[in-house]
Amino acid sequence: MNRYHRLSGAVGVVLLATFLLAGCSENDRPLDAPVRFEGAIFGSFYQVTVMDPLTQGEANALEEGFLAELESVDQAMSTYRDDAELIAFNEAPLNEWQPLSNELIEVLSISRSVSEESGGAFDITVGGLVNLWSFGPEARPETIPSEAELNERLAIVGYDAIDVDTQSMQARRTRDVFADLSGIAKGHGVDRVAAYLDQQGIEHYLVNLGGDILARGYRHPDEQTPWRIGIEVPHTGPQEAQHILPLDNMSLATSGDYRNYFEEDGERYSHTIDPRTGRPVNNRLASVSVFHPSNAWADAWATALTVTGSEAGMQLALEHDLNALLLIKIDEGQWQSLGTPAFINYFGDALVEELGIDAWEDPSAPRQTATGE
Ligand code: ADP
Ligand code: MG
Repeated sequence: MNRYHRLSGAVGVVLLATFLLAGCSENDRPLDAPVRFEGAIFGSFYQVTVMDPLTQGEANALEEGFLAELESVDQAMSTYRDDAELIAFNEAPLNEWQPLSNELIEVLSISRSVSEESGGAFDITVGGLVNLWSFGPEARPETIPSEAELNERLAIVGYDAIDVDTQSMQARRTRDVFADLSGIAKGHGVDRVAAYLDQQGIEHYLVNLGGDILARGYRHPDEQTPWRIGIEVPHTGPQEAQHILPLDNMSLATSGDYRNYFEEDGERYSHTIDPRTGRPVNNRLASVSVFHPSNAWADAWATALTVTGSEAGMQLALEHDLNALLLIKIDEGQWQSLGTPAFINYFGDALVEELGIDAWEDPSAPRQTATGE
């Protein structure tokens, strides 16, 4: 006992001496929580908030690490840089299998699943049309394309034009479509940052990549209070929250027609294209938020439901047990908030009622009668 004390005392003295000799470096300085990292990325922004105790040096290393993940996502799936892997894939000869990176195969494979499950509402082969409508890398003037141009590009659209083999990690195009992963890449980026932070042993954080969000652990770890996120009012004015929801080890992606669009003759043209018509979607669905443990899935599904609109979207949500919140335009500046059955189940009746969110009722379900048994 005594001996142990003497030894540990000696070690303590040595440690203290080293510390004094080295001086208290900037890197060892503990930071106050929350530590927030912010910047521009993918033509949008990133914001990562960490509640775990960090020194300045750990914070720097963490930021460097997750930015490297995002850079790798950009390098694989951007349609805005010539050296992207996706651009090479889009230019490769038709019908020839191309060996691709794990991450590109994973995202192509999720895209394919959401396409199949959504009846083609999510379809990355709309790329040619996205470009035609001036939302893509071709940087055309913001104007309405001619019928001829539109039909020509629409003719080859269809998710069956891309085959993905997850065993051999290869993919191929069977028609000359332009694969556009912008509807899912941000979500995948969120998943990648989260996986990196998990791997580094970070337990309490919030990742926000251009509005696609993933929460882990707690906002206040001591009191175990969850992260809270705002679902935006779907208007073009300043950002305000329509609803505030707790997010407990969950992610969400929101699609909407109120941020990214162009206007001509008073008509708004959304950046989400309906693969059936080749035209920007135009329905009463102002905003769709999908909650899913994987943000790539949430992101793709949010776009899919934006395409289908509220009625067909609700049927799909029922079929695939999707946890989603839809804001449906009922009048200028007025929206009805509608939760899918999985949403109501997840957040609970009490909170949903308190927030003024309506439960969707399936019109095809047998009606309950008051007559009893
Ligand atoms: P939002 O936040 O509105 O979902 P995203 O950036 O996640 O926006 O996705 C929109 C992008 O997805 C478009 O800019 C386009 O590149 C691509 N896209 C458009 N329509 C579709 C579609 N039907 N299926 C898949 N991707 C699409
Ligand atoms: Mg999206």
